[in-house]
Formats: sequence, structure tokens, C-alpha cells
Amino acid sequence: MQALFTIDVEDYFHTVEGEHVPKLAQWDALPTRVEKNTQVLLDILDEYKVKSTCFVLGYVARRHPDLVREISRRGHEVASHGMNHKHVYEMAPEEFAQDLETSKKLLEDICGNEVLGFRSPGFSYTDSSPWFFDKLIEKGYSFDSSVFPAARFEGGIKTDQFDPHWVTTSQGRIFEFPITVAPVFGKNICFFGGGYLRLFPKWMIVSMAKKLQRAQRNVLYYIHPREIDPSHPRFKMNALNSFRSYVNLKTVEGKLRAILKLSEFINCRDYLQQIKLQEDKNASG
Ligand SMILES: [Zn+2]
Repeated sequence: MQALFTIDVEDYFHTVEGEHVPKLAQWDALPTRVEKNTQVLLDILDEYKVKSTCFVLGYVARRHPDLVREISRRGHEVASHGMNHKHVYEMAPEEFAQDLETSKKLLEDICGNEVLGFRSPGFSYTDSSPWFFDKLIEKGYSFDSSVFPAARFEGGIKTDQFDPHWVTTSQGRIFEFPITVAPVFGKNICFFGGGYLRLFPKWMIVSMAKKLQRAQRNVLYYIHPREIDPSHPRFKMNALNSFRSYVNLKTVEGKLRAILKLSEFINCRDYLQQIKLQEDKNASG
């Protein structure tokens, strides 16, 4: 079995929305930590020889083009996280399509490689955007990783497809890498990324990953650069959002190392390539 490691490359101020969390117009004036934190993550991945897929926010790419080049130069895949961290469910179809086009072109111009994949901010693909996959196909994307197949505070979608799979629409087909969830007492729970990775103890995350591996399922992990930086600036939030944003930051590095030791890893681009090769092989008998 192969695991997938993904990073949503964004800064510490691209966190949950709230009264005291800075808005787009204020971002340029804020000190930034995304470059340093991403490098820390990439250094850890290097130690375990793991190549990731990095969903880079367009805003970050504009402000730190050298970081995008470095990600690519170090052998990681550059994919899109949209331009300005706006939720899909807050956009009209045309606005979303424009966002897909602008971020893809921006990243491709900087890193010189074709951008194949997309992940929506906050896993904000929901039932309210039925045109979601059509727009991705229309704008030339080959894969998506926005499906969060369980309940969450925002985003999330009901589905019975929990493993990587093709999605077919009237526009064509696109490959989906859903966020991995594991069934626990009849409920699907994510243990493998962001706030969930911070919240659950290391032994539980490792044992859930092993359980899925035994069931022949791939685990997809995701992380944000701020999560490897326990001293990043914090914003005033209500108690729930503060917990979601800042719980257990100090535990992340140890959990990350335990995860990286556990499996063989592949990035999304290479995984999709494997699927297509297998299809060609099957087609030619
Ligand atoms: Zn994000």
C-alpha cells in the first residue's frame, strides 16, 4: 500500500475566519512565516525520502515565488489551493472558474511544470456547488483533493466513496483523492490531517493508519506549514475556533515522524500516472 502526503502551503493567517483574523486587504502588511515553515516540513520529508503534493495558495505564490520554485526543485508536486483562500460555497460558478484558471497559470509560470491538481480552501466543496467538478475539468485539471467525506465544522460532503476514484461528469472525467477517514463505532472520523492530526494522540493516529493499511486502503495525510511552528502568532477567536486552530501544536513534529516511518509514500501526480498506466495495460489486454 502507498500513502499520500499533502501540504496546503499557506500562511498562519490563512486560518479559520473570525472577527479578529486578518482579511485579504490586511495580509500584505503581516509578517510572514510560510517560507521558513514549509522549508522545515520539506527538510523533515527529505529525511524520510518522501515526495509530497503541495497545494500552494495563489496569494503565497505571488508573495513568495522562490518558495514555489524550491518546492518544485526539491522534487515535490506543485498543485493549486486557489488564489485567496475563498470558500467554494461562497463563489458563483464563473468566479470559481476564474480562480482555477488564474491560480493554475500563476503556478505554472513560476515553476515551469504543468499544474494538474486542486484542493479547495477549507474542504469547501459541498452540495451547494454541483458544478464543482465540471469547472475543474473545463479548466484543465486532472485531479482534485477537496472531498472531505465526513461531517466537519465547514465543508464536507456525504458520499460512500472513501478511496481515490474517478469522477465522471458531462464534461469528462477527473480523479478524486478524498481525505482519508476511518470508521469508528459507525462514524467516519479523520485522524490524518490538520486539526485532527493535532487533536488525536500519536498512538491512535498510528494505529488507525495501520488498520487502514491492513484493509488495503491508502491513507492520505494533509498538513499546513503553520502546524510545524508552535510559536506562530495567534489571533483572538471564540473558544471553539481557538481550540480548532491551536490545540496541541507542539505534538505535530513527533506525529509527523511516526507517520512518515509507517508507509511508502507517493505523490498525487505519480499515483494518477500509475492508475492510467494500469488502465492502458488492461485495455491492451
Ligand atoms: Zn487552506
